[in-house]
Amino acid sequence: MQTDNSRASEHLMDWLRDAHAMEEQAETMLNSMVSRIENYPDLRERIRQHIDETREQQRLVRECIERRGGDTSTVKDLTGKAMATFQGFSGVFASDEVVKGALFGFAFENLEIAAYSQLIEAAKFVGDTETAHTCTRILQEERAMAEWLEQNSAQLVRQFLARTDAPDMQAKR
Ligand code: MG
Ligand code: FE
Repeated sequence: MQTDNSRASEHLMDWLRDAHAMEEQAETMLNSMVSRIENYPDLRERIRQHIDETREQQRLVRECIERRGGDTSTVKDLTGKAMATFQGFSGVFASDEVVKGALFGFAFENLEIAAYSQLIEAAKFVGDTETAHTCTRILQEERAMAEWLEQNSAQLVRQFLARTDAPDMQAKR
């Protein structure tokens, strides 16, 4: 495709790099959650599936960046900052960590939905239909994950609270 150096293209490139960093953060966080969950198999399975989707999303976003003439080498140190934020927010190691994980997971999926919605518009604006198409595909996966978390939230809270008050049961994860 044409390499143009318009301001709009620069913003699109920045936002693609942000999205790539976001997906790296997502993989780290989801891996951390899935490795700790013991008593909530449905949630664990859904997260496992989304880890596979997230790795593919990283590859797809990287392809968009490279096709536009950029690279992904400068984004690494954003991940550490986001992880620190995540651990503060999610209460990993807290007595209700599975509930906090689902809370943060839902918030994060909605952040991704917002990011890809903006990317689609930016890609269309500069005439990059392939990037718009890729981001539309990813957006569908983020929406599906957010919807799953929303639909399963009530049951998760009930299961957690029931386990909390049951003797000899571990509730937190
Ligand atoms: Mg994602
Ligand atoms: Fe996601």
